[in-house]
Amino acid sequence: MRCWLFALLTLYSLAWAQTTHTVRPGETLYRIAKQYDTTVEALQVLNNLSDPTQLRVGQVLRISGQPSVSVYRLTQTPAPIEALEWPRQTVQGHLAVVRIIAPEPVQGEVRFLNSTYPIQQNRVLLPIPALQAPGVYPALLRVGGEAVRLEVRVVAGTFGRFILQLPPERRALLVPEKLRAERLRVVGSCDFNRPQQWHGSFQKPIQTNRITDPFGTRRSYDQGRTYSYHEGLDYGVPEGTPVYAPAPGVVGLAETLFVRGGAVTLDHGLGVCSGFWHLSRIAVRPGQTIKAGDLIGYSGNTGLSNGPHLHFEIRVRGIPTNPAPWYLAVP
Ligand SMILES: [Zn+2]
Repeated sequence: MRCWLFALLTLYSLAWAQTTHTVRPGETLYRIAKQYDTTVEALQVLNNLSDPTQLRVGQVLRISGQPSVSVYRLTQTPAPIEALEWPRQTVQGHLAVVRIIAPEPVQGEVRFLNSTYPIQQNRVLLPIPALQAPGVYPALLRVGGEAVRLEVRVVAGTFGRFILQLPPERRALLVPEKLRAERLRVVGSCDFNRPQQWHGSFQKPIQTNRITDPFGTRRSYDQGRTYSYHEGLDYGVPEGTPVYAPAPGVVGLAETLFVRGGAVTLDHGLGVCSGFWHLSRIAVRPGQTIKAGDLIGYSGNTGLSNGPHLHFEIRVRGIPTNPAPWYLAVP
């Protein structure tokens, strides 16, 4: 096995013309989005805002254009690969996509953070766990008998912190074995080998811009350490609000779970699965093929939920990623 290092590494930036807006007193992201005929999610992604409520007066927001993405490009690679490209840095909870430039489909895998990710359609989707400490991590790409060592830089997201005040009787419900079994059921409903079902970006699954809890909020049950984090986006909507498929897929799971209540998962292929929790009604069956925009159920307040809302999440090979960037551009 040969190890290729950063021999011919170039760095380039993709930047587009853009409009900016300076935040004035009393403005909300929602109001600014309306003013420019864009969405809260688009503004969040462009400005790397994990929490849409955290705006300060005088802050300059990008309104249009693409997020500026600096990309590493490695050209000294094993045949038939001509070059490898991957983002110069990735925020906690986002996806680092390694692109393989080659004239034909390449077989192989990447070893990253103790997991193995296959090359699929000349891309490798590397989900960065939301609690992954910032730093530089090796990713070893193996093709045939050769290996290329890449470095993936993880930078901190801006996440809120939430101290859960659970009454003792509810706390007693959070039995670790029960939680683990339910998580396995959710992740197990995703077929990691399914071919890609989606085309283009994902749609928002519900008609509102009211995010009551963004992705990645750190949670603890006491004043001390973080026990978990918010694995999706919460939309505050009245019970019975229709929930639509964000992208084409196959229904993985459609049943009532203990913590997640009325639950649906959609399998979009390449290990990408979305989840919809706390539903009051489910409108699909497992195995059903779904188009983007199909009705999958109605929001509710079922399971361990403290008010009517839709929890929407997107996992990549079982690891939760921030859903907001999926609305703008997907790998
Ligand atoms: Zn949630």
